[in-house]
Amino acid sequence: MTGFHLDGENHWVAELECGHRQHVRHEPPWMERPWVLTEEGRRSRLGIELDCRRCDEVGHAVAEAVREALAAAARQAYEDAGLSGLCAEGRWELALDALRSTGLTSAIHRALARPH
Ligand SMILES: [Zn+2]
Repeated sequence: MTGFHLDGENHWVAELECGHRQHVRHEPPWMERPWVLTEEGRRSRLGIELDCRRCDEVGHAVAEAVREALAAAARQAYEDAGLSGLCAEGRWELALDALRSTGLTSAIHRALARPH
């Protein structure tokens, strides 16, 4: 957490190092965060890490996109190698090569461009 501000409804919002923001409400008995109510309490939390839900979602989306791109590339290489008459070992080798050489940049960009 790098800072705090109030939103339009007077709820405290933590500003995170990653650039995202996350509500840090004090709503007893569901959510106990008495520290958020005082300037001193908030200052004492600066620098403390808060898991960012949005970064988690983005991370999962990117991981999923990378997995799909690699699986598709490996499957394609395996099929192509089969069509050109390679044995199982040769097909496996080409599938591995595809995993190593497939560009992932566009899949990652597409995943990041989707709304989260
Ligand atoms: Zn984040």
